[in-house]
Amino acid sequence: MDQVCCVCGEALNGENVSRCRFCGGSFHMAWSTGANIKECGSYFFHPESCGLNFICRLCESSLGTGGPQSPNQFITS
Ligand SMILES: [Zn+2]
Ligand SMILES: [Zn+2]
Repeated sequence: MDQVCCVCGEALNGENVSRCRFCGGSFHMAWSTGANIKECGSYFFHPESCGLNFICRLCESSLGTGGPQSPNQFITS
């Protein structure tokens, strides 16, 4: 049952965790303000599902073009 972050490979504590929409892996995401948790991904608003979606750093870098751009552009298809 031990879950590890798909980005950094370290153990997840079960609370500050999100699941990547693209690869399905779980990664570190700090939910509590002031939590001493590193973030191994980010979230973005998905207009079609009207909800928050999450993307890990691995997918973020593989989907991105390397430049700073809105994650929303990843899901335009
Ligand atoms: Zn991590
Ligand atoms: Zn991912």
